[in-house]
Amino acid sequence: MKIETVGIVGAGQMGGGIAHVSAMAGYKVLLYDLSPERIEKGIATISGNMARQVSSGKLDDKVRQDALAKISAAPEMQDLAGADLVIEAATEDETIKRKIYAQLCPKLNPEAVLATNTSSISITRLAAQTDRPERFIGIHFMNPVPVMKLVEVVRGIATEDVTFEAAKAFVNSLDKTITVAEDFPAFIVNRILLPMINEAIYTLYEGVGTVEAIDTAMKLGANHPMGPLQLADFIGLDTCLSIMQVLHDGLSDSKYRPCPLLVKYVEAGWLGRKAGRGFYDYRGEHPVPTR
Ligand code: NAD
Repeated sequence: MKIETVGIVGAGQMGGGIAHVSAMAGYKVLLYDLSPERIEKGIATISGNMARQVSSGKLDDKVRQDALAKISAAPEMQDLAGADLVIEAATEDETIKRKIYAQLCPKLNPEAVLATNTSSISITRLAAQTDRPERFIGIHFMNPVPVMKLVEVVRGIATEDVTFEAAKAFVNSLDKTITVAEDFPAFIVNRILLPMINEAIYTLYEGVGTVEAIDTAMKLGANHPMGPLQLADFIGLDTCLSIMQVLHDGLSDSKYRPCPLLVKYVEAGWLGRKAGRGFYDYRGEHPVPTR
């Protein structure tokens, strides 16, 4: 199976990152989101991230220009029709993803592979909503995509070997390292990481420590490069809550119950870095803890 053109649904943090690394690896990229403004914003972010790589000496300016030229806006879903692989990186909400597949599948080449970047939702269940469960697979990138080496590849029950091999070859071509995970809620990385983040939020909720105390404790006491609350803001608190809900529902174990304080932050729209405020307030020059 030859992949030359990659369609991406969702031009947010992850979709933009996937577009960035795919274009750098030489793929033609078509980027789709709900509005032309969101796509333009996504492309502007990619351009800014690439420019930063150039100024820090990690990237040649000619390579940046060539890569950027490979990314095109796809204002209509129909514009993804020529893609050999479509990676869905829309909001972590099963209803949204289902609606996207229902609209998208009739427009795609029957041979095209459809992948999801979901952090937690069952690949088998999502695949069953499509016209191509055998050509459906989880390709789970980590944030920020241009920096993080790992990609989890997750097969659904119906995923054919040819799809699995194509997904692995694609990920390898991006110079990423693959971990194969079975299709259980939140796979490997988030099954382990999110309960730790949720516990950090309980630690804050119960007043065991302040935002600063908890992050400093885990950075200096457990040698984590980033504190768990800072990391939660980075991931997006809506995404963190969705993953905890998927773990809670999918494994029916109360140990995965989302912390009420996480729910409150999401209800406030304090979704972390992308919203300008979460456990830290990012609107000033330096992040300031919000508790
Ligand atoms: P985000 O909020 O930055 O971006 C989501 C994008 O999806 C937005 O631009 C939104 O406009 C778009 N969108 C929503 N509905 C849409 C629709 N119907 N059609 C097209 N686009 C639509 O979120 P994100 O962090 O990029 O997360 C996207 C996916 O990647 C989620 O499934 C998430 O679980 C997964 N993921 C996130 C992380 C992370 O750390 N944030 C890491 C790995 C995987």
